[in-house]
Amino acid sequence: MVHFTKLRLVGFKSFVDSTEMPIEPGMTGIVGPNGCGKSNLVEALRWVMGETSAKRMRGGEMDDVIFAGNTGRPARNVAEVVLSLDNADRNVPSQFNGAEALEISRRIDRGVGSHYRVNGSEVRARDVQLLFADAATGAHSTAMVSQGRVGAIISAKPTERRALLEEAAGITGLHSRRHEAELR
Ligand code: ATP
Ligand code: MG
Repeated sequence: MVHFTKLRLVGFKSFVDSTEMPIEPGMTGIVGPNGCGKSNLVEALRWVMGETSAKRMRGGEMDDVIFAGNTGRPARNVAEVVLSLDNADRNVPSQFNGAEALEISRRIDRGVGSHYRVNGSEVRARDVQLLFADAATGAHSTAMVSQGRVGAIISAKPTERRALLEEAAGITGLHSRRHEAELR
């Protein structure tokens, strides 16, 4: 099992100031009034794991994840999310397996796009997506069900449902890699 230990955001959606959220064992929920940023936190998790769809981030384009300003605070041009993982079980793919703890970060600069790092070294989006696909978490994982997705899962076609099962079994990364190899 991969354990998330901490989420840090700055300039991401409503989290304009640097915000750190420890993820302790036993944490079961986030509560707060409407519009306080609960869904934004979950989206930050999905985003740092390699989400590529602006629509699934409730935006028109990916730059919409950057703090857009409000009364009294100007918009930002950079957003960053850092996710810390406990890798004591050495569960992540071999290229990252050496480290006890991993820090995955994604930064977006307005008009430029995203950059990913793992423990400070620049990596491809694909590397981050595969890291989580193998760990059966990931941006499209069944572990993350957004508002409205429950109905979609219930009415999914058999092939879509198979993809969900493969995801849950942790073999999605394998399929992705095979597909990539076949394209070469
Ligand atoms: P609910 O209980 O209604 O589901 P919530 O706690 O999930 O609410 P979110 O949807 O996470 O709330 O947060 C919504 C808030 O985030 C809104 O006030 C919205 O204006 C703000 N927000 C979203 N994107 C940005 C952005 N790019 N810049 C600034 N604020 C943003
Ligand atoms: Mg919400």
